Amino acid sequence: MENAASRLEAVRANIARVCKPARREPASVTLIAVSKTHGPEAITPLIEAGQRVFGENRVQEAQGKWPALREAHPSIELHLIGQLQSNKAEEAVALFDCIHSLDRPSLLTALARAMDKAGRQVPCFVQVNIGDEPQKGGCPIAELPAFLGEVRQTGIPLAGLMCIPPADTEAAPFFALLAKLAADHGVSGGLSMGMSGDYETAVMLGATHVRVGTALFGARG
Ligand SMILES: *Cc1c(COP(=O)(O)O)cnc(C)c1O
Repeated sequence: MENAASRLEAVRANIARVCKPARREPASVTLIAVSKTHGPEAITPLIEAGQRVFGENRVQEAQGKWPALREAHPSIELHLIGQLQSNKAEEAVALFDCIHSLDRPSLLTALARAMDKAGRQVPCFVQVNIGDEPQKGGCPIAELPAFLGEVRQTGIPLAGLMCIPPADTEAAPFFALLAKLAADHGVSGGLSMGMSGDYETAVMLGATHVRVGTALFGARG
């Protein structure tokens, strides 16, 4: 069985390998270890192997496990990658260092208010519904220019754009589209795209943040 350290090393090596032809520095790619459903016994070995940035998709689950882990390892950076309900905005702002799922005006209002109240600015990626899938979160592409305008008006820090391409289809065209949308709309920040099955492709197409779970932790139970 591979251990956490060797899986981490393999993922980092894959990122470095595809950075070369893309003429990118490996350090320009932030590897987010997606630890959803995994407990401290699985997370701690990765921290000990040097991983510092982690991602969770549920506020409540993260509240249950990360305060203790962070007390032991204060340099941890925690990202929220899953959909967020407006009524959890205050809790999310208190716990996370970055939010990848800002996708609608009501959530923008709630997050801006929560950041004001907490006196804490949390960078947010605007999630785009890149495959135009009705069941998925994310701002519709047609509404992106107006929504970005609203985000800029509130003054909350815009981290970039994020997407989750449709399952079971080639992801590359969707990654390329996200990069194009960022360029077209003057979003100079990051691109959060790529998961275990396609993070190398995402890096070749400009991802600054890859969200990798299974390749680091093994299959979720
Ligand atoms: C679970 C999840 C991931 C990681 O998926 P893997 O295929 O396990 O790497 C990435 N992004 C989001 C939004 C997720 O919910």
